[in-house]
Amino acid sequence: MAAGTQGSLNLTNEQPDRHIYHMDENKHEIALSTKNLEVYYGDHLALQGADLSFERFKITSLIGASGSGKSTFLRSLNRMNDDVATVKGNIMYRGLDINSQDIDVYEMRKHIGMVFQRPNPFAKSISDNITFALKQHGVHDKAKLAEIVETSLKQAALWDEVKDDLKKSALSLSGGQQQRLVIARAIAMQPDILLLDEPASALDPISSAKIEDTLMELKKRFTIIIVTHNMQQASRVSDYTAFFHTGQVLEYDLTRKIFTRPKVQMTIDYVNGNFG
Ligand code: ADP
Ligand code: MG
Repeated sequence: MAAGTQGSLNLTNEQPDRHIYHMDENKHEIALSTKNLEVYYGDHLALQGADLSFERFKITSLIGASGSGKSTFLRSLNRMNDDVATVKGNIMYRGLDINSQDIDVYEMRKHIGMVFQRPNPFAKSISDNITFALKQHGVHDKAKLAEIVETSLKQAALWDEVKDDLKKSALSLSGGQQQRLVIARAIAMQPDILLLDEPASALDPISSAKIEDTLMELKKRFTIIIVTHNMQQASRVSDYTAFFHTGQVLEYDLTRKIFTRPKVQMTIDYVNGNFG
């Protein structure tokens, strides 16, 4: 099927077609956007009317108090809420509404990868963690796999620490290394967009700083959307910030504006640490 045909997402990242990205009024390339996104857990409306556009090759932080709907929003973007919630509205990606029923979710997740709060490496070797999904998707060439292992680990800033023993169990790595391995595993699929839900919150400050450096490096190739509780982290790494409050996006702007002159009083209170 041709690119852009409803239901099909068989586009390869090796041959990106720039024209399939929508431009906003400021001529920014938009990697993903939501329109009127609503999420219900049973009767409970956890997210209401979220309209957000994410610029390509930028980092967008999602901030807000616990329970404000950040994870609900993020998980909806690659259909992780399908089994637990009702998700209404549109999620536009390369001209397709990926929230529609006829989307191949498995295929879509190759383009939109996810990293969770707790590192979840497989109980396999470092290299097998990275090659597992690739093999499932039909990549068997040994040289090609070895090359992807190396590139992904380098991009995730873990290569130097593990290159001498790629057969070692992933579970023997430290928490910070495991999280970078999981990031390497996600980027090995060459996704377009990387979703991260508080990837550094369970880590010590040094590992957390390494993850931040990794993200700065990764945004050259990927569009990144990250949930974070850490205001310093949001202000350091992200280009844009969306502030969530009780299931609504109250303010969305350039990060420096959110942190220096936000428009909404609630945002001012939150970024100043008055609640949350
Ligand atoms: P955040 O990530 O900002 O802390 P969440 O998206 O996890 O917030 O939660 C938003 C709201 O949705 C909260 O009221 C939470 O209790 C509720 N919620 C989240 N996940 C579920 C679930 N699986 N089932 C029922 N309610 C949920
Ligand atoms: Mg959360």
